Amino acid sequence: MSREPEESPKFMVDAMLGTLAKWLRLLGYDAEYADSSYPDSEIVRRARSQGRIILTRDRELALHRKGVNAILIESEELGEQLLQLKEALGLDFDRLGSRCVECNVPLVSISREEARPLVPPYVYQTQTEFRICPKCGRVYWRATHWEKIQEKLKQLLSENDTEG
Ligand SMILES: [Zn+2]
Repeated sequence: MSREPEESPKFMVDAMLGTLAKWLRLLGYDAEYADSSYPDSEIVRRARSQGRIILTRDRELALHRKGVNAILIESEELGEQLLQLKEALGLDFDRLGSRCVECNVPLVSISREEARPLVPPYVYQTQTEFRICPKCGRVYWRATHWEKIQEKLKQLLSENDTEG
């Protein structure tokens, strides 16, 4: 069973921030994506009932949140958005690969033998660590998923590292 740290923040991400929601999941955070059909009141209601922090680019929503935590995302750039959250919440970017990007559910470790029928032969031969999404069945492994993401993340963050 994979368990997350209790203090780990959970997010309700508004419809304008789909890429950020995906990246938060890649980084292991629970990030629900608010469908663009949700009215603000529904976003606030869900965030409250599920203990989520609202991430939004909508100043109105950030202001009228009725006691629910919300962060107004200032930049349109993904790297800057991630840095803003890192600074605001001390996000830990070392939990890569613990959550399904599509389903937003924690991944479960499986053995190499369990992964064998589910992945290409080359992957089975070269990889040792596999995780599966209990909801959609997608299998994740280190080389193709996590390492590329790690690289991209470094790149995103360093691009924005020059401002004080
Ligand atoms: Zn999934």
